[in-house]
Amino acid sequence: MPVSLALVVSEILSDIETMGADKALQLISWRFEGLKIIRQHFNDIDFDYYNTGGYELLNNNAPLEQLGYINGLLYTITNATETFVQKDNCINDFGFAGITHVLENRFEGALHSGKLLRALLQKVISMDVQVMFGTELKSFEENNDEIALHTSDKRTLFTQQLVFCTNAFSKSLLPEIAVVPARGQVLLTEPIPGLKLNGVFHYDEGFYYFRNLNDRILLGGARNTSIETEYTLDAFTTLPIQQALEDFLSKVVLPGQRVAIQQRWAGIMAMGPDKSPVLKQLTERTFCSVRLSGMGVALAPMMGKMLAEMV
Ligand SMILES: Cc1cc2nc3c(=O)[nH]c(=O)nc-3n(C[C@H](O)[C@H](O)[C@H](O)COP(=O)(O)OP(=O)(O)OC[C@H]3O[C@@H](n4cnc5c(N)ncnc54)[C@H](O)[C@@H]3O)c2cc1C
Repeated sequence: MPVSLALVVSEILSDIETMGADKALQLISWRFEGLKIIRQHFNDIDFDYYNTGGYELLNNNAPLEQLGYINGLLYTITNATETFVQKDNCINDFGFAGITHVLENRFEGALHSGKLLRALLQKVISMDVQVMFGTELKSFEENNDEIALHTSDKRTLFTQQLVFCTNAFSKSLLPEIAVVPARGQVLLTEPIPGLKLNGVFHYDEGFYYFRNLNDRILLGGARNTSIETEYTLDAFTTLPIQQALEDFLSKVVLPGQRVAIQQRWAGIMAMGPDKSPVLKQLTERTFCSVRLSGMGVALAPMMGKMLAEMV
């Protein structure tokens, strides 16, 4: 699935309010560095990386008033005086409705996370890492010398150290960590003749995101329209959220057009009281990097780097 760095002014402002500026900036910096690390290790072409530019669609002025402040904060990360620039002409260029302003971020990029995962697997297998697909860890016991891992197929494996990267699926193994699953639903349209969109787009503090995939639109989000039902590990789509996505598509993105939907799917993210990931040593031999708050593709390289230093 295509993924982006997802820098959104209204979301950054909301993060600063809930987490404070230092923590919010730290997260952005890790994501920014993460994308750089991915691009150092893999060829852009292998995971369909395009520096498409990103756009935030606004229907109020509030983020514009904070633009100078946010650009000032981001200077230390992007090294640009204007990371975000007002580009209201995009409303007509792309044909949006119900939007009053557009902000552009030229550092935004999109990648194909399935292809990235494939490239990563190829790399680790070539380094002799053994990946045990379909093996579920049911429980574990740590003693002085080692950790015993009990799997669902009734085997016991032994290890010196254990790192949990189980994200939203961490509750049963690590009940002490505050993490809740959050379902993200997506749809993909049929090809749209004459589609004008090009780039990655965000709306409503990042709760909606869409991009063109050649001449199709991939649109996801709307979790905020039914927040309670989406705190689930069930990775399937639901009518209310898919309806909210289709409403947004026909009212804002492609006003007045009826477009057929080719595919719908859902994935599971991990959330907590704020957006900080939980990266820490749990006991002498166990560690975790979980709760990646829907930013795990961009955050993963820095989490991995910090974990490697910790273990
Ligand atoms: C719709 C959607 C859009 C997204 N968009 C973006 C984006 O634009 N940018 C971005 O950076 N991120 C995005 N994300 C978030 C990103 O996909 C996740 O943060 C990332 O996949 C987390 O990676 P992870 O490896 O930590 O966890 P996961 O990908 O959830 O992997 C956890 C793994 O642990 C395994 N596991 C769990 N329990 C056990 C067990 N007991 N034993 C063995 N294995 C176990 C699972 O099978 C799974 O393979 C998006 C997510 C969704 C759903």
